Amino acid sequence: MSNTWTPQDWKSKPIVQDVIYEDQAHVDRVLNKLTRLPPMVSASEVDNLRRQLKEAALGESFLLQGGDCAELFDYCSQDPIEAKLKVLLQMSLVLTWGARTPVVRIARMAGQYAKPRSSPMEMHEGKEIHSFRGDNVNGYDPSDRKPDPERLLGAYFHSAATLNYVRTLLDSGFADLHEPSKWNLSHVRSENVRREYEKIVQQLTDSLDFMKTIGADNGSSNVLNSVDLFVSHEALLLDYESSLTRLITSPTTKEKKWYNTGSHFLWIGDRTRQPDGAHVEYMRGIENPIGIKVGPSTVPEELVNLLNTVNPKKEIGKVTLITRFGAEKVEKFLPQHIEAVRQSGHIPVWVCDPMHGNTKTASGNLKTRHFIDIIQELSQTFRVHKDCSSKLNGVHFELTGDSVTECIGGSMDLRDTDLSTNYQTHCDPRLNYEQSLDVAFLIAKYYEN
Ligand code: PEP
Ligand code: MN
Repeated sequence: MSNTWTPQDWKSKPIVQDVIYEDQAHVDRVLNKLTRLPPMVSASEVDNLRRQLKEAALGESFLLQGGDCAELFDYCSQDPIEAKLKVLLQMSLVLTWGARTPVVRIARMAGQYAKPRSSPMEMHEGKEIHSFRGDNVNGYDPSDRKPDPERLLGAYFHSAATLNYVRTLLDSGFADLHEPSKWNLSHVRSENVRREYEKIVQQLTDSLDFMKTIGADNGSSNVLNSVDLFVSHEALLLDYESSLTRLITSPTTKEKKWYNTGSHFLWIGDRTRQPDGAHVEYMRGIENPIGIKVGPSTVPEELVNLLNTVNPKKEIGKVTLITRFGAEKVEKFLPQHIEAVRQSGHIPVWVCDPMHGNTKTASGNLKTRHFIDIIQELSQTFRVHKDCSSKLNGVHFELTGDSVTECIGGSMDLRDTDLSTNYQTHCDPRLNYEQSLDVAFLIAKYYEN
């Protein structure tokens, strides 16, 4: 990055998925306020995540990233936060134990409010209204679709409150491995999933007992009592992101760098990764580790250009490539991408998002995803990497800790006709609690082979 980059430079570039507000003076007041609000994450946490992702890129650990498609301000509440944290921790326990690999955890949480849409407008009862763009732009209720700049401040405060409670839980022993029974398997129907999870917990308890006996665990080890958990969201609303971007002395390099202080990790979506566009211009300047969604429309040479733009020094693990081709298309597209990236000399974190290429419409016009397609994309991605002498370094899921009915299949065998039982999402369908544990067990198994 050149020394002259500033967080506002993206304004001179063409932008897609932009939000048009009626009252620019109101937007300016809000942004002015945002620039004065304190950081939510620190430079040392961001540097720490960069180090952890470098290890993931080198195949020494595995990245688990997951959370809602569209986080709502309403989810900023005790039960949903606990449920989300619990499922991510349980999945990472299964992965760490089953695959014998350290896990880097990044939640899609505390800021995942903005959504790109295929069309800015939609029809409602014969009238054209704005599409729902996420809680930081407008409301889901059809009467509340006008973009409201105050919602940007709402995003900041809901993110801060969510992150605060996540930190409180982790500091108070929520992730303490000495008490895994606290993470009970409420509402898991499948006997197999229960049995497999309880087996791990039993083995883990035995191991901890043994360590205590030999004096290797006196109950105060940071590693066993808590975990690192980072937060992430799609960097879509650049006014918001640039207001939270601050020049800070890096604790690692002692140089002044631009950090996005609103989240540890940010990614560029499939719709906003134009090499000369505003989103890439913003993302190339920040010190945070970043993700890029890679789909069937990504041209391999263009991907290499993008990597050169956002990571000219080719720092290992700075960029996470999140592939989302769809079960039918992985075999065709992924090998070309792996080969082009290898030849470029970049070493990214390769992550599979088996959700976004597998969205289908079920009866009642509900968006759904079939568990079997998700598993197929995942297993094929593992295999293609192996065949190309590469390695899959992580996974990215849309999931929730609640027992929603949005994706079809899994060990609880949800059917098309069950979808309406508890269909909650305001955007894409998520794996529910049990389906999330199912995939964790499957990944642990693939990883062993
Ligand atoms: C998302 O992650 O919710 C999303 C919109 O993904 P993509 O950009 O890959 O379509
Ligand atoms: Mn989504």
